[in-house]
Amino acid sequence: MTVDSKIAGEFCGMLLPAKKIAIVGHHNPDGDCIGSLTGMKAWLDSLFGGKEPVKVSTLVPNHIPYYLMFMDGADSVVLYSDNPDKATSILEEADTIICMDLNDLARTEEMADIIRKSAARKILIDHHPFPEKFADLTVSETEVSSASELAWWLICEASLKTGTEIPVECKASLYTGMMTDTNNFCNSVFPSTFLMASQIAEAGIDREKIQMEIMNSFSEERMRLMGLMLKDKMTVYPDLKAAVLVLDQETKDKYNYRDGDSEGFVNLPLKIRDIEISALFTQGNGYIKVSLRSKGAVSVNRLCRLFFNGGGHERAAGGRLYDKPIEEVADYFEKSLRLFLGGFSA
Ligand code: 5GP
Ligand code: MN
Repeated sequence: MTVDSKIAGEFCGMLLPAKKIAIVGHHNPDGDCIGSLTGMKAWLDSLFGGKEPVKVSTLVPNHIPYYLMFMDGADSVVLYSDNPDKATSILEEADTIICMDLNDLARTEEMADIIRKSAARKILIDHHPFPEKFADLTVSETEVSSASELAWWLICEASLKTGTEIPVECKASLYTGMMTDTNNFCNSVFPSTFLMASQIAEAGIDREKIQMEIMNSFSEERMRLMGLMLKDKMTVYPDLKAAVLVLDQETKDKYNYRDGDSEGFVNLPLKIRDIEISALFTQGNGYIKVSLRSKGAVSVNRLCRLFFNGGGHERAAGGRLYDKPIEEVADYFEKSLRLFLGGFSA
């Protein structure tokens, strides 16, 4: 995977006149979102370094999970939920808006309308199928591990054109984003992904620290919650080759749940040989968060679009349920999957 030199040229052409750049990610930001945002900001700061000051801001709709806060620049990301006035004025004043790791502007929640109305030059850098056409420049690829990897190839090409040095903070962030989105080199890994990893490994980033922060820094409560989920909260449907995990509010309270504590839980049932589809339902404020994974031919992206008010990738998708009690979601999942596998399409 490489980014076409012409696209990188357009990207540089759009950036050069910029004075105020806003980089925007999606609701419930994950590692790829924060990695691509902070990595792009570190690179832009290097691109514009020493010249007339260019203000580069990073924004997401809501809270960043604690286990991502070790990344350089994560603590300066503006959260719309906590600071709507500041976020709005950054977006309204921006002359250039870069959206990353989203294919649907609605995933920026309340920021979507402001971005849509803005006269700023807009750039989308994303790896999901069917990107919404709202940007002046769309850099979109699905044959790539993550938005962070796509940003890496774009930044490499753009650095050659502009003679920019890629700072180590940029490399560490993009590496972290790629590593989290591939579930530590397990899913959506392409030959180019290893090439990126190898190029960045040579740059002297602290891979052991990143590995440790992401993979081996569970709290005791999070670890025990994981055990409980597998022991008591998992239902297996052998004939559907599916398994469901349900995380209710009472359990969350009991284990002092923090955002991000259930990260990766949805992958666990796929470790069972004959399970090909896994679902995690998490009770939250006003809706139930849905996470779906597939390790076979079933498109959870389509399943999610049809039954769970969401979407995503073929093998990793998410959505929301607004009107179902938590006790009924496993049944609803079973019925939906039966319809889906029976050929139902809306
Ligand atoms: P996760 O299950 O890790 O929250 O999300 C997996 C993937 O599903 C994400 O990378 C994203 O592409 C997609 N996704 C998650 N939640 C939503 C949602 O509410 N709406 C849409 N359209 N996609 C989502
Ligand atoms: Mn993401």
